[in-house]
Amino acid sequence: MDGDDGVLEAPYRLEYTYTRSTGPVIGRFLGALRAATLEGVRTADGGVLVPPLEYDTSGEATGEAVPVGPGGVVTTWAWVTEPRREHPLARPFAWALVKLDGASTAMLHAVDAGDLAAMKTGMRVVPRWRDERTGSVRDLACFVPESPLTLSEARSAESKGARDERTAPEPVALFPSPVALDYTVTAGHHLSTYLRAMKEKRIVGGRCPSCTKVYLPPRGACPTCGVPADALVDVADHGVVTTFCVIRIPFDAAPFPPPYIAIAVILEGADLPMFHLLRGIAPEEARMGMRVRAVWAPDDELGPTLASIKWFEPTGEPDADTAEIERHL
Ligand SMILES: [Zn+2]
Repeated sequence: MDGDDGVLEAPYRLEYTYTRSTGPVIGRFLGALRAATLEGVRTADGGVLVPPLEYDTSGEATGEAVPVGPGGVVTTWAWVTEPRREHPLARPFAWALVKLDGASTAMLHAVDAGDLAAMKTGMRVVPRWRDERTGSVRDLACFVPESPLTLSEARSAESKGARDERTAPEPVALFPSPVALDYTVTAGHHLSTYLRAMKEKRIVGGRCPSCTKVYLPPRGACPTCGVPADALVDVADHGVVTTFCVIRIPFDAAPFPPPYIAIAVILEGADLPMFHLLRGIAPEEARMGMRVRAVWAPDDELGPTLASIKWFEPTGEPDADTAEIERHL
């Protein structure tokens, strides 16, 4: 999208998806949540730590699991006026520390009080459980103010959960734990020009007036000479592979099933390589010095993005001499 001053902007998500192992203590806690039950662990000094950990603050190993709750007391809280996408509730709610009955410590969770005026330090709350539980802290949907009705619902969920599990809760060993950061990328003037040219199947570099080096993408200044480098020049959509890497390990964001080839290609007329993909050749045939050309996306898929080039493919011409590429390595 176009931002102010014709500079391109785009939403961006930086995300790491990985699976976390829980260990026996937290694994048991999560298993208990699946059974709509809250548990802590006994500490060396006789307290009850909730949520449980392997060690207490003195460094002593914790002991046996101890049932707590279901009710508890709000010890402190903060009101969320505008919930965000990842929050547990879509309407205003409180993040609160809740000290469950029988616990020595308070746990952080959401309280759905309905209204800011209903939130108070010292108020009693009970859990509201999700119907579908997977062994996650989100199985506990939130806490709600305690009343005869909500207390009876919490107790009924707990006894039904215990019946479903039949024996002691099965510990959770692994669970997916994605970490994501959403933000807006601003391309800046020179990168915006470069990206817009992609929509017209053109590749634009920026030439330094002093050393004549052509930067790709254009940077607006030459970091070597310290002078403005805003003369734009078109470079060819073909060039020579300087280095490459064969990706053999699958991951979520992979563009193709492995194996596939990532290349650094020095385009004719440019002094810095472009990073892209190489197809049309077996991975074991990839080599430095190969001559390749861009495969552009169909016209209706062209846009201000590097994805306007789908990948590179070999031209079939004889390889370049090492001398031709060594200064670009
Ligand atoms: Zn320069």
